[in-house]
Amino acid sequence: MSSADIKSYKSTCSYCGVGCGVIVSKDKKGKISLKGDPDHPVNKGMLCSKGMNLHYVVEDKSDRLLHPQMRWGKTHPLERVDWDTALDRASAVFSSIIEKHGPDSVAFYVSGQCLTEEYYLVNKLTKGFLKTNNVDTNSRLCMSSAVMGYIKTLGEDSVPISYDDIELADCFFVAGANPAWCHPILWRRIEKHKEENPHVKIIVVDPRATQSCSIADLHLQLHPGTDEVLFLAMGRCLIEQGDIDLPFIKKHTDGFEAYKELVMKTTLQEAAEICGLSEEDIKTAASFIGNAKGFLSLWTMGLNQSADGVNKNLALIDLNLITGHIGKPGSGPFSLTGQPNAMGGREVGGMATLLACHRNLNNPEHRSEVADFWGVDEISATPGKTATQIFEGIEEGSIKAIWVICTNPLVSMPDARKVEAALKKARFVVVQDISNKNETIPYADLVLPAAGWGEKEGTMTNSERRISYLDQFKPAPGEALSDAEILMRFAKKMQFSGFNFNNMAEVYSEYCQLTKNTNIDISGLDYDYLKNHGSVQWPFLNKDQGGTKRLFTDHKFYTANGKAQIMASGLKSDYEKTSADFPLVLTTGRIRDQWHTMTRTGKVNKLNTHIPTPFLEIHPEDALERGIIQGKTVLVSGIRGEVRLHAQVTDKIKKGTVFMPMHWGKILGNDFARANNLTGNTIDPVSKQPDFKYSVVQVALYKNP
Ligand code: SF4
Repeated sequence: MSSADIKSYKSTCSYCGVGCGVIVSKDKKGKISLKGDPDHPVNKGMLCSKGMNLHYVVEDKSDRLLHPQMRWGKTHPLERVDWDTALDRASAVFSSIIEKHGPDSVAFYVSGQCLTEEYYLVNKLTKGFLKTNNVDTNSRLCMSSAVMGYIKTLGEDSVPISYDDIELADCFFVAGANPAWCHPILWRRIEKHKEENPHVKIIVVDPRATQSCSIADLHLQLHPGTDEVLFLAMGRCLIEQGDIDLPFIKKHTDGFEAYKELVMKTTLQEAAEICGLSEEDIKTAASFIGNAKGFLSLWTMGLNQSADGVNKNLALIDLNLITGHIGKPGSGPFSLTGQPNAMGGREVGGMATLLACHRNLNNPEHRSEVADFWGVDEISATPGKTATQIFEGIEEGSIKAIWVICTNPLVSMPDARKVEAALKKARFVVVQDISNKNETIPYADLVLPAAGWGEKEGTMTNSERRISYLDQFKPAPGEALSDAEILMRFAKKMQFSGFNFNNMAEVYSEYCQLTKNTNIDISGLDYDYLKNHGSVQWPFLNKDQGGTKRLFTDHKFYTANGKAQIMASGLKSDYEKTSADFPLVLTTGRIRDQWHTMTRTGKVNKLNTHIPTPFLEIHPEDALERGIIQGKTVLVSGIRGEVRLHAQVTDKIKKGTVFMPMHWGKILGNDFARANNLTGNTIDPVSKQPDFKYSVVQVALYKNP
């Protein structure tokens, strides 16, 4: 086949928040191949195992939802219906519930995998027209603590750095993250930088010795939940070593004296004991930072998914602020986003507690601005229910209908059995997804088939604020429609004005205008620019100057007085307490080749061979105490449920801690490997992000009854 027979399309990988550029080629017969985009600034042609196999997921239609399906009653089977019947029913049920119980009796639960246009539309629909802020996202489970950390310290949810800072940094502090597996291409850039510059120091903070430790100069293997104590102790060391930037602190920050007083309250010896570390190692970590010209702190779920998620974020960002490592090359606090468009969701205010373009939901003027823009009377001042609160609301009866888009809460939400009970109780459940493997579908009254990656166009924003355009290169199968089209059709059925867009370029253009004069201003941006010039980082100045690589280069922050706020609480939230019955702490996480609840990666044989079955990591001494040997099936029991899976006995995990991956749901009809049978509903009091990293459990050899 000649090259003239092959058509190429540019897109962005739809897995993690790194946001690698891909080139998709389609031959005359429709066969698709894929490679990394050599010109893309993020990955420069590289792709990880998940990205390299994206096209297999698109080509395999065996699990695709092809037609709308509906149940005529709770005990009836799902039956194929046409789109009009499906959306007439949805609008009739939503209208009747809202009329009877008020707007806050319905909720939408969406996903960080939605495109920005979809995120924008669902927020306009709920906050503007359905008159409820009950629209939350599975990004609540991954980075809402980081959002609050940035807002409190820098004034807005603004990641200050660019990936190009990687090659300019000489100290990396990686806390609660395993980027070698979860952000692989970013990690490859860090690896290469260290190979070429052996003086570069890498510190990893994690109760597990993960793959990311393989190139670390120092692994701080702390007890789960003690990160904030460690960061404050490091702050103390930096102050005592004289490694802080006093001129920067005085001129550009508030709160240093209170911070200093707080960190001095705990001796290094006390902190080391609490964290299960040596004083020497804490001092060494601080000296690496103190000697650095460029210092990047990187973090993700290990800090965010915690009862203390926001406090951990604050204490970590403080390390950048007291050393003046922000707004300059190679420096800054850098929270990694888990999902490909978690950042895009944050921009459009895609959470129950946010408003579009970094406006504040609690601010009446901001609500008026958005209401005027959308041509509606007002936006409700009542904060919406967040992810766990939505399911609690269903369980207690205040929320009657839920619309789930592009996510699988039955596997991914904490305390899965509670979620299951809530879904059974809901009066009306809509599940909108691409795959019939979504385990939430059996609880749905209405199932809507959605278009997947490559079957629709739109934009996404990665962890460094980089907006990329994703081209459509194939039609959606069957009667599947893009999430945006489904939402617009529903809005029209509800007789809402403001949803008469002809294409996604018009949706994006409307959103871009809403950003005007905000700190994330992209009002001069459009699809043509993205298609012709490639991706850009917000704010977008204009078509000549393009985007913005690094924020706060003038050290003027988005707070009221322009100063960054150094703040830390030092107070520990309520973690579950270990006991004789439940003496171990369970932490959950990802593995290299799977994504979320495996509805996509689970289809690819190559990816399933890396780690084919779920496992429990347990320390050799904890295993010995329980007579557990490598590979044997163990029963893990907790306050809320149990799982059984094979033991992986390893000294890579801190004694007293066990780990299991979060990906598996039902296997052969059983939920015995679903990690969220064990996790609970503890949430950070500020960010409302659930804690997936600290659940008390017991482990025993499984005896087949
Ligand atoms: Fe996709 Fe992330 Fe891998 Fe890049 S690093 S190819 S964005 S999964």
